[in-house]
Amino acid sequence: MTTSMQRDLNVSATAPVLVVGTGPSGLATALALARSGVETVLAGPPPAAPRARTAALFSGSIDLLRHLGVLAACADGSAAIKAIRLIDDTGGLLRAPEALFTAADAGLEVLGFNIPNSVLLAALETAVHAEPRIQIVTTVAVTGLETGEAQVIARLAEGGTLAARLVVAADGRQSVCRTAAGIGTHGWSYPQTAVVALVEHTRPHRNVSTELHRRPGPLTTVPLPGLASSLVWVEDTRRAEALLALDETAFRAELDRHLKGLLGPIRATTARAAFPLGVTTADRFAARRVMLVGEAGHVIPPIGAQGLNLGMRDVAMLADFVGEAVAAGGDPGAGDVLAAYDTARRGDIGTRTFAVDMLNRTLISGLLPADLLRGLGLHALNSIGPLRRAVIRQGLHPSGTRPTLMRPHGA
Ligand SMILES: Cc1cc2nc3c(=O)[nH]c(=O)nc-3n(C[C@H](O)[C@H](O)[C@H](O)COP(=O)(O)OP(=O)(O)OC[C@H]3O[C@@H](n4cnc5c(N)ncnc54)[C@H](O)[C@@H]3O)c2cc1C
Repeated sequence: MTTSMQRDLNVSATAPVLVVGTGPSGLATALALARSGVETVLAGPPPAAPRARTAALFSGSIDLLRHLGVLAACADGSAAIKAIRLIDDTGGLLRAPEALFTAADAGLEVLGFNIPNSVLLAALETAVHAEPRIQIVTTVAVTGLETGEAQVIARLAEGGTLAARLVVAADGRQSVCRTAAGIGTHGWSYPQTAVVALVEHTRPHRNVSTELHRRPGPLTTVPLPGLASSLVWVEDTRRAEALLALDETAFRAELDRHLKGLLGPIRATTARAAFPLGVTTADRFAARRVMLVGEAGHVIPPIGAQGLNLGMRDVAMLADFVGEAVAAGGDPGAGDVLAAYDTARRGDIGTRTFAVDMLNRTLISGLLPADLLRGLGLHALNSIGPLRRAVIRQGLHPSGTRPTLMRPHGA
């Protein structure tokens, strides 16, 4: 992976768009805008991928990566996801039936791919460097914005400023740009933490991602190439801390006990990392010439692999609205463009946040009515084919018009 963004430019004129943040959302936004014909400045530190992290990206996101010309470069280290299996391991009185959602059910060859974050970032970064419509400004941080009638001025940590008609805030969950635009957030935290690692096992995963639904939270394995998977193990926070403190042998034994031979004995695990679970949602997704993408707009727990898929839909939708405004000679930061983006993203973000929250709460509540509801839901999905197919399609992509960069190739 390229380790730094060397193409530092001194940008003095007002750019149409400034993207702040060099995570997957920021890099993909800059590329999507450039491919839509918009001259873009990208500001942030050199991209850095957290270790042992992967993202399961579903068909819409995969189509976006293909349109951006980076999918082939993501193949290395990634594995196809052909099915998702849900197993009730709550030990409740009313055990939900096992459910299997396959790509074939959705009329697809694969549901998506599990891509290491480092591979995704490297592919996006290489493409950003090769794109002449993107000017890169390496900075430790954008420290604040001054939002005005006709433009936004961004201040850089090293001194100096950048001016743009529109700022895309892709600066993550603690977004400085979101705060500077006067956008508040609402949310909550859960008494749970996700323990994350990559694991090597002895039985093939057959490209099936498995979610064990347990009282303290789901334990999910997602396929990687060969006899390997990524693990997202949600536990109550005290127990997660205990898991983190185990040596590797003891951790493997504990994991074996929970997986009950699903992937055969675990052979090795990487270092573990912990992520406390919570929800943060911006009160709006655009204001004062600033649009929010990715975790600057929404943070949800790593359950059901929805976070970055939502972020990629932000990116594709934003590229349509901004691309159209610029192509028509209009102002990309104008009120109607911001309002259209805000309205377009509300439903999708709200629905996904609600669904992930509901699943998590029905698991941890341990209440009989909640178990009954979950069990009946899964039973209906298992026995009613059209319902299952509709739910899979909805899980992969919300209904409604697909943004241009998420249309299947040739469509
Ligand atoms: C354990 C775990 C597993 C997950 N698995 C999945 C999955 O399988 N599928 C899925 O879809 N999602 C998944 N997610 C969610 C996914 O990882 C996030 O949605 C995604 O990483 C968010 O990317 P982002 O670019 O919005 O934010 P970030 O990755 O946080 O990037 C923000 C960037 O902005 C930069 N920055 C910050 N402040 C400033 C500033 N002031 N000025 C300039 N730059 C700044 C940072 O350096 C960083 O580069 C998972 C999350 C976790 C925690």
